[in-house]
Amino acid sequence: MYESSRALFERAQQSIPGGVNSPVRAFKSVGGDPVFIRGAKGAWLYDVDGNQYIDYINSWGPMILGHAWEPVVKAIQEKVKDSTSFGAPTALEIDMAELIKSMAPNIDLVRMVNSGTEACMSALRLARGYTGRNKFIKFEGCYHGHADSFLVKAGSGLATFNIQKVPGVTAGVANDTLTCAYNDLGAVQELVTHHKDQVAAIIIEPVAGNMGCIPPAEGFLEGLRRICTEEGIVLIFDEVMTGFRLAPGGAQERLSVDADLVTYGKVIGAGMPVGAFGGKKEIMQHIAPLGKVYQAGTLSGNPIAMIAGYTLLKALQERNEIYSELEEKTLYLKQGLDEALSLSGKPYRINQLGSMISIHFSDQPVTDFASAAASDNAFFNRLFHAMLRRGIYLPPSAFETWFISNALEKAELDQTIAALKEAMAELLSA
Ligand SMILES: *Cc1c(COP(=O)(O)O)cnc(C)c1O
Repeated sequence: MYESSRALFERAQQSIPGGVNSPVRAFKSVGGDPVFIRGAKGAWLYDVDGNQYIDYINSWGPMILGHAWEPVVKAIQEKVKDSTSFGAPTALEIDMAELIKSMAPNIDLVRMVNSGTEACMSALRLARGYTGRNKFIKFEGCYHGHADSFLVKAGSGLATFNIQKVPGVTAGVANDTLTCAYNDLGAVQELVTHHKDQVAAIIIEPVAGNMGCIPPAEGFLEGLRRICTEEGIVLIFDEVMTGFRLAPGGAQERLSVDADLVTYGKVIGAGMPVGAFGGKKEIMQHIAPLGKVYQAGTLSGNPIAMIAGYTLLKALQERNEIYSELEEKTLYLKQGLDEALSLSGKPYRINQLGSMISIHFSDQPVTDFASAAASDNAFFNRLFHAMLRRGIYLPPSAFETWFISNALEKAELDQTIAALKEAMAELLSA
């Protein structure tokens, strides 16, 4: 069933570390060998052995309207004829910036980069440059890319591989990273008081997606907003996952809380390598060439990446009903998963907000990293394979949210629910 994938994985390991270009792809936590993908269309992934899967990763978010969405494919094909990069400004970059501003109204200026990592790394540097402070607060289990400062209690990838301390990140850097449990406002207040006038920024996934899906508790984001305003701390919403997914204006719009700086990735590039960070002019004007906080990129604002992202974002803006459709589908799936799991007798929790959803096998509410880690994740790992064998491609770790695309129709959702019933019966009878 997986012969060609196995052969490719063998070959890949001879020339690529671990055979993959990003660790979570390696199936290491769930065990087994990764499946190699040949192509995808709509809700479906096709592997090199002729198997097909209903896709709940969607390239970790970007394929919110499904794979190979025609308008994006066409736009890229047209644009590529005019060369792939110039290293000089283009009108398209202005169109993109204006479109982002129209979707997230509290953004005055926005800088394009090439990944979510770059966006978060640059936003943090900017917050430090702007405030003249060094420390920042992040939350256990939140992932903000792989820049040194963020690789402290950093969620999915590291949790999946049980990496506690990352070799190569110096103590000096790690010492400036303060961490709190997600949803623990009291702990944030204590840290801020203890490090009075030293905290440059609080960065958070406004809906966490890198320890499974964990929504913010009532009043939590509002509390962070208040603390930041009172203490002159820059509030950074890492919307790499939630941006353009939870609403046209992301979590800021969906949850009615404004950040000072916002970072984007994933959906913003429609599957091309794109990130962005933006915010109020007062802060953003400190970025070079306006200010002294240096940040640059040879390929930033790349025309092919911009036309792909622009085409997708424009569609999301114009067809606002996409968001209610996505939510309806996710709620339908949630109800089906709920029924399938309750039949099995195994304790579970389903967390969901908008088109983000995940299952934790726990009899306790899952509200932070500790409660996510305390779940029966070994069982999830077995479930992953039982689902894969049935043609359902879930994220290969219990510490990841599932990404719903609008290409999923009732037939695929029903197939997923039926597969879960079967898979649970198989696993629990064994
Ligand atoms: C994926 C992700 C990142 C990192 O983005 P890359 O494009 O992989 O560098 C940062 N923050 C969050 C919340 C993410 O989900």
